[in-house]
Amino acid sequence: MRIGQGYDVHQLVEGRQLILGGVPIAFEKGLLGHSDADVLVHAVCDALLGAAGLNDIGHHFPDSDARYKGISSLKLLQSVCTLLAENAYRIVNIDATVFAQAPRLAPYREQMRDQLAAAMHLACGRINIKATTTEGLGPFGRGEGIGAMCIALLRSL
Ligand code: MG
Repeated sequence: MRIGQGYDVHQLVEGRQLILGGVPIAFEKGLLGHSDADVLVHAVCDALLGAAGLNDIGHHFPDSDARYKGISSLKLLQSVCTLLAENAYRIVNIDATVFAQAPRLAPYREQMRDQLAAAMHLACGRINIKATTTEGLGPFGRGEGIGAMCIALLRSL
């Protein structure tokens, strides 16, 4: 068994579509980034790569590479899962938390889980997504950005 953690933050700005866990979310702002800036999926990718000892998302998909401009982060997650398979790892479970003062994410939680499950070819029961506000405190509480943390457990085949 191998465990890994991932953490990511993106800035909230006007004029961008908010996408979390591969799901477009109705909100007046979106996350700024080279890809679709899906902070939840980025944290999941980093947790998986970390558990496998395979560096990080910026190493595999650099934001200086035009191929990844505007790309759906679910595609990056699919590539990460291919890498895991090539290295004979299987995912045991994923547990992630999103930090966002707004919008309320509970209505999207199942959709997000389904998107992650499809991208990872993983049973929904192995994926848990939580969301929390930070009680108005800090950059997330002030709505300056959205953050995400994830822990992943892998099994070596
Ligand atoms: Mg990121």
